[in-house]
Amino acid sequence: MIQEVLKLDSGNKGAKSMILYGVHGNEISGISAVQKIIKNLKIQSGLVYFVMGNPRAVAQNVRFTEANLNRMFEDKNILIQKYSEKVLNTYEFQRAKFLKTLFKEVDILLDIHDSSITESQPFIICEKNGFEIAKYLPVNKIVSGFDSIEPGGTDYFMNKIGKTGICLECGYFGNPNSQKIAEQGILNFLQYRQHLNPNNLNQLTIQNTQKRYQLSLKYYTKTNNFKLIKSFKDFEKLKKNQLIGLDGKDQVMAPDDCFILFAHNRKQAGSEAFLLGKSE
Ligand SMILES: [Zn+2]
Repeated sequence: MIQEVLKLDSGNKGAKSMILYGVHGNEISGISAVQKIIKNLKIQSGLVYFVMGNPRAVAQNVRFTEANLNRMFEDKNILIQKYSEKVLNTYEFQRAKFLKTLFKEVDILLDIHDSSITESQPFIICEKNGFEIAKYLPVNKIVSGFDSIEPGGTDYFMNKIGKTGICLECGYFGNPNSQKIAEQGILNFLQYRQHLNPNNLNQLTIQNTQKRYQLSLKYYTKTNNFKLIKSFKDFEKLKKNQLIGLDGKDQVMAPDDCFILFAHNRKQAGSEAFLLGKSE
């Protein structure tokens, strides 16, 4: 059984980092990768936390139990406005409160996710402060702008308190390659941060072909029946005025030439249906 909070202290000076996994309880790639890595891990400098984000959801193999943990890192008052007072009683709100205290003990957070969409591709979520580390992660797409378009995540909180938050989205959770990306991402991160083999840093592959994307819009459904016109692959290009879906009877179209991310059919008004953005 994997420990929920594992603190590895080298006893030597050095960076303070955290690997977070299982923020969404059914995202298995990160959980399996961490289980494998920590077996024989001995860090050489600084300290590293390995933290299971949402143990209750992991135990039930569900995304979350009462509220999406990765929206709970926003200010309490904003959460109440968005979800009503009830949100404060959720397990996930309380869990976020606990995680925030741990986040304050480290400088950089790497949060591992994967996706339920079959054709999803791996990518990194970070802002400018994460671009340097992103070069060492085994993924060629970087998406920025989540902090303003979709605030409330772990990375948002880290950036807000002047630290650095990075999410690694490893691809479809049914694809074995996603676990490999998670493993390689964690190991590269630990090396970059000099927790492991500091002398090998120059042997790490730098991703020279990373492409950057900037989010511009999140669409919230207006009715209880939002249907995509077709299934969209992550990063699929859309033309201006291209039909995306029907929200009740209303046509929802792309306002510009753009790309689409996380597109889902939804059955409840006010749900997050998709994100749009532009490549830089
Ligand atoms: Zn996730």
